[in-house]
Amino acid sequence: MPLHIETPLVESRPLSLASGRTVRLKLEALQPPGSFKIRGIGAACEHHARRGVRRFVSSSGGNAGIAVAHAGRRLSAAVVVVVPETASAIARRSIEDEGAELVLHGAAWHEAHALALTMVDTDTAFVHPFDDPLVWRGHATMIDEAVRQGARPDAVVLSVGGGGLLCGVVEGLRRNGWSDVPVVAVETRGAESLHRSMRSGRRVTLDAVTSIATSLGAREVCEQAFRWTSEHPVASVVVDDAAAVSACLRFVDDHRLVVEPASGAALAPVYDRAPELDAFDDVLVVVCGGAVASLARLDAWAVDLGARR
Ligand SMILES: *Cc1c(COP(=O)(O)O)cnc(C)c1O
Repeated sequence: MPLHIETPLVESRPLSLASGRTVRLKLEALQPPGSFKIRGIGAACEHHARRGVRRFVSSSGGNAGIAVAHAGRRLSAAVVVVVPETASAIARRSIEDEGAELVLHGAAWHEAHALALTMVDTDTAFVHPFDDPLVWRGHATMIDEAVRQGARPDAVVLSVGGGGLLCGVVEGLRRNGWSDVPVVAVETRGAESLHRSMRSGRRVTLDAVTSIATSLGAREVCEQAFRWTSEHPVASVVVDDAAAVSACLRFVDDHRLVVEPASGAALAPVYDRAPELDAFDDVLVVVCGGAVASLARLDAWAVDLGARR
């Protein structure tokens, strides 16, 4: 039994009307740990458990850390999540609620990450949030399900942080005979590492991540994600934080689901009829997660950013 659940694929009437095309949603925010991450991370943790690993380490103060904590509890393995002091209260509590040991270390992520790496030994696996073929293979199950659940879309719209979701979705499309279905890869401004890489023809490392969509905050995408942009049809879209937050708030009204700005990023070009979607009459949007959001936080961001509500 995998650690993720099969999520609904629903046609959204409000989004279809707003967007002027058929919009279907893969509701990954309904995964018990709150995001699609459990698909790939759950598969990786199961793989390590089968080879005798008894302890997992993560350095993510976001959905990846929550997913590792969740997988560890389900597999009766110990989990340590090392996070910097900037990790949000919601994420810290979710990690502890899963029974994992939370270690606060450092002012920034790279310090927490360096400590986490020192904890790896023969009984302990470090679980990477996005750069691992085991993780991509697990994420690809989302497309296996979508194939069983409905008709082939003209494009898949998703958000990109380190690119693990992109790698998993492209792998899923290809292993199901949907290799000509394009991916629309959305990032928020201030976290647009894939966009800059595609523009300059080589992998670009951002000096800093400034977007509020912390789940998209990788300074560079993994090598494989960048490679797919020349081997699979991938269109890049960048949206403002304000547009991502507005999309989240509209989505609450339309679907009664609170999702985080990383999901709002993928919804924004659909709501706003971005020209990159012009060629597509039927899109599948990955509603990737919501564990690190709350309605109060969305409202506060909207005020700060002057987002349309
Ligand atoms: C991790 C994450 C992303 C981005 O996934 P990558 O594999 O890092 O590209 C998007 N949305 C949510 C909710 C996430 O947790």
